[in-house]
Amino acid sequence: MAFIADRLSRIQPSPTIAVTTKAAELKAAGVDVIGLGAGEPDFDTPDNIKAAAKAAIDAGQTKYTPVAGTVALRKAIVAKFKRENDLEYTIDEITVGCGGKQTLYNALFATLNPGDEVIIPAPYWVSYPDMTLMSEGTPVIVECQEENDFKLTAAELEAAITPKTKWLVLNSPSNPTGAAYSAAELRALADVLLKHDHVWIMSDDMYEHLVYDGFKFTTIAQIEPKLKSRTLTCNGVSKSYAMTGWRLGYAAGPVALIKAINMVQSQTSTHTSSISQAASVEALNGPQDFLAERAEVFKTRRDLVVKAINECEGLTCKKPEGAFYVYPSCKGVIGKKTPDGKVIETDSDFVTYLLEAEGVAAVQGTAFGLAPYFRISYATSTEALTEACKRIKRACAALK
Ligand code: PLP
Repeated sequence: MAFIADRLSRIQPSPTIAVTTKAAELKAAGVDVIGLGAGEPDFDTPDNIKAAAKAAIDAGQTKYTPVAGTVALRKAIVAKFKRENDLEYTIDEITVGCGGKQTLYNALFATLNPGDEVIIPAPYWVSYPDMTLMSEGTPVIVECQEENDFKLTAAELEAAITPKTKWLVLNSPSNPTGAAYSAAELRALADVLLKHDHVWIMSDDMYEHLVYDGFKFTTIAQIEPKLKSRTLTCNGVSKSYAMTGWRLGYAAGPVALIKAINMVQSQTSTHTSSISQAASVEALNGPQDFLAERAEVFKTRRDLVVKAINECEGLTCKKPEGAFYVYPSCKGVIGKKTPDGKVIETDSDFVTYLLEAEGVAAVQGTAFGLAPYFRISYATSTEALTEACKRIKRACAALK
């Protein structure tokens, strides 16, 4: 329609939200669907965090706050970076937004000129390319290899950098693969970045606390302090603290960049909810023991899913270090026929088959920029996962 701006023709609605919505609609219509599409923990927000929000309402913390976030929250974020990442920031180097998503978008919008390039390793979180396009930048997609555990290598990074590169987006642990970069892997990337001082790094650490088997999380500004002055370290409470609906994310970086992000925010949302900010102070300053307890539950589910998927004919699945996703390959089912005679030609055909034949909702790898794979979110009950894996196995066995 001519009324809609041209810039919207470059982007698409989030495919992961589309799958979740479709699964919910089918469920509402009485279809027996197991949703493995959702990117959110099935756990509830801890009670101490809810209580802090209720107390904030009763104390009248219901007015506008500073655009960058309350001082109490930014102090809690500064303390978090020191405690968990050994990174020193001041409160004017912190910004808080309506979810990590908005903070990342504001950063791209505030910095990209038409034609500026953003290196995005694939498979990627679905929003990076579209946010770049909305900001008139050019996504430069680098396909990472399964044999490298879907991680960007130093050589691939070096080859992707041009004089127009503005940002490298690094997401560890990754959505959609769950892969997390070790300190040595980050070191290798840092060595390349040291040679190209026009390249900034957007480190999306949203799944920091969801790592398993003793994996030690590190972030690039910590690995190479010389990169800190051109790194935006992004994080949030959504995934770790089971607070997706509260809409609160944050980022730390040099003052000039943070000011630019705040300027965008001041003319759009102003800030996220004052109540969510009060709740997040408690999330960051309060007890942290439950993080490890929940990570243990996620680890058990990851193991269950990886084992079960590797038992399915035509599927193989790596065991990733973190997040709550796995990214199995469905190469082995491409070209096979479903019981009603349809040929599976793509990963999209395969996930459609899973949904139609067995009521299992997963997301096609094409949506994340690397095919033929699909993403399973294991942020759902062990019973639902066990049943879903049984159905996937049956669906695969029925292919000829
Ligand atoms: N970054 C990654 C890699 C994600 O997977 C998500 C959510 O799915 C976000 C950022 C944004 O999280 P939120 O906006 O809910 O804080």
